[in-house]
Amino acid sequence: MPNKKKPPRILYNCDKCPAYCCSYARIVVKKKDIARLAEHFGVDEERALKRFTKKGHDKGEIILRHQKDEHYGTICRFIDSETRGCTVYKARPKICREFPGPGHCGYYDFLKFERRTQEDKDYVSTTWNHD
Ligand code: SF4
Ligand code: SF4
Repeated sequence: MPNKKKPPRILYNCDKCPAYCCSYARIVVKKKDIARLAEHFGVDEERALKRFTKKGHDKGEIILRHQKDEHYGTICRFIDSETRGCTVYKARPKICREFPGPGHCGYYDFLKFERRTQEDKDYVSTTWNHD
């Protein structure tokens, strides 16, 4: 039987968002993610671990390093500050591939609302809480 279930409509547009989700403080990576990044950059896994990640708050947690950011204070080190795109898109961690899940992105809904009410199509909200 063919699968007649329709895929959910995607109701967000990452091209119109300055990558808010990449500013999460805890972008957790696993061994496979580090291996993928190491291969992408042609370095060994130990070097990739050191260069791209640091220890998170929880025991054993490894998270992506950040860089300074004009909108959100800090953001993932792999964001291109000009284009707001991911510079390691093909090698990005699993967690980035899965976010925000089917259908909606809460931040994008909020951003759309603010842009509409403020009549400013380029408005960027920096006050949305994600922790
Ligand atoms: S916050 Fe939402 S709309 Fe913005 S880049 Fe992330 S997933 Fe896309
Ligand atoms: S790896 Fe790419 S998609 Fe993931 S948080 Fe960093 S910039 Fe965003």
